[in-house]
Amino acid sequence: MPRSTPANAPVLRTIVCIYCRKPQQVGSTAMSLPCRFCHKALNLEDIVITGYAAKRVIETCGSITIEPKGDVTVNSLTCAGLVVVGKLKGNVISLGAVSMGATAIVRGDVTAPALSIAPGARLLGRYVVSGVMLPEVPPAPAAARKSKPAR
Ligand SMILES: [Zn+2]
Repeated sequence: MPRSTPANAPVLRTIVCIYCRKPQQVGSTAMSLPCRFCHKALNLEDIVITGYAAKRVIETCGSITIEPKGDVTVNSLTCAGLVVVGKLKGNVISLGAVSMGATAIVRGDVTAPALSIAPGARLLGRYVVSGVMLPEVPPAPAAARKSKPAR
């Protein structure tokens, strides 16, 4: 397995669980571990796709890069960040920014807090702006609501 992590990388890095969306610190060389909060197995690898790939699901708390010759067909792709220079067919949920290079073709719906599209790139689907990086705020309890005193 090739590792792109430099030998002297910082000891800890912060990731966001793609399931419960809670940030947490993990060892910089960890490739997978259970979420501290929801206990689902998290894949932490940054994925680089250089050729044809067809999968039902791609999920990682790292980033995904689809290179110029990458041609990905997937039902659902969930990641912390996405760079597309090649082709992608499928629905994307990214917790971080999505970037499409000039030769990118994306067929599917993209949900991400930010999207950058180079001139020439094509997005054949919907783009949903979603601030999913923000921690979810639990609804305020009803007791916090003050009723106005009647005069
Ligand atoms: Zn979680």
